[in-house]
Amino acid sequence: MPETRRRVQVMSPQLADRIAAGEVVERPASVLKELIENSLDAGARHIDVLIEGAGIELLEVQDDGIGIEAEDLPLALSRHATSKLYDDGELEQIHSFGFRGEALPAIASVARLEITSRAVGANAARHLRLAAGILEEDTPAARAPGTTVRVEDLFYNVPARRKFLKAPGTELGRIQKLWRQLALSAFPVDLRLQQGKRLLAQYPAALSEADQDARVAAILGEEFLRNALRFAQENNGWRLWGWLGLPSFNRPRADEQYFFVNGRAVQDAGLRHALRSAYADVLYQDRQPVAICYLELPSELVDVNVHPAKTEVRFREARQIHDFVRHTLAEIIADQARPRAPYLPP
Ligand code: ADP
Ligand code: MG
Repeated sequence: MPETRRRVQVMSPQLADRIAAGEVVERPASVLKELIENSLDAGARHIDVLIEGAGIELLEVQDDGIGIEAEDLPLALSRHATSKLYDDGELEQIHSFGFRGEALPAIASVARLEITSRAVGANAARHLRLAAGILEEDTPAARAPGTTVRVEDLFYNVPARRKFLKAPGTELGRIQKLWRQLALSAFPVDLRLQQGKRLLAQYPAALSEADQDARVAAILGEEFLRNALRFAQENNGWRLWGWLGLPSFNRPRADEQYFFVNGRAVQDAGLRHALRSAYADVLYQDRQPVAICYLELPSELVDVNVHPAKTEVRFREARQIHDFVRHTLAEIIADQARPRAPYLPP
């Protein structure tokens, strides 16, 4: 027992933000995820990312989205402030990546953050600079409509968290993995990723099927595209589409399987299982397929509010969804394997 009785107190907003940051901001890749998702939610058509030192020294995201009204800018950096969710009825019908109003204040509380934004229709931009969540500068700025968020010195004020980060190569690897997921979930957006002066990846907006194929080839390799079937199936308003690697194009591990539910990249054991079972008859037990699957469901069947990072979802009718995915994919694979009628020369 402590010797002196300590009184109950509401914690300061900065401390509350820093504690919440533990769940949202794990590493540079999670910062990048939140910033890019904000840009996508803002309807950006171009997103430029600049990182230095595996994103720990610097992580900057520039977009040409709708921007933030000057008077709302400080609010965007306070906790539980969001433009994406106004009442609890909307919580059942989430159509944006964000809705919790946590990311910006959480990131700001564990780094140095600058944000410059100009709303579409406004004639100037506003610029804020914060360190460890404390406002240090607030000035007018010049900028085309859109938003730039610059995050420097991640975890500089939380040494314990900084120590927990892995070697720069590992953190960079996670950034690239996240980048591939985002690129696969945002075909219409022109994306650029730069590390210092080096261009790591650039994907032009992919609107046609051919352009989407090209982006898939850039991300998973030409060989995957040559050995993949593009598919799309719909049943009762449930839709599944994507690319399935041929059984012959397999991997020892399940690390090249991408799942998106209503546009959001998810980690889901049920979907992984459904995919693997669809290949049960055509793949050795210790091999894994390569695939990209987009599942589109009525939003009331999908609860995305499971974890702050939102990479997990909970399904209503989970069993039926699993079976729908498994049957649809199994049918496509079986179709492909079925011998074609012999070719008879004329
Ligand atoms: P959330 O995305 O859950 O709403 P965030 O903390 O990530 O919470 O962002 C807070 C708010 O700031 C958003 O709701 C949005 O209104 C605004 N915002 C953040 N980033 C951008 C951006 N890149 N473009 C336009 N608005 C943004
Ligand atoms: Mg957000």
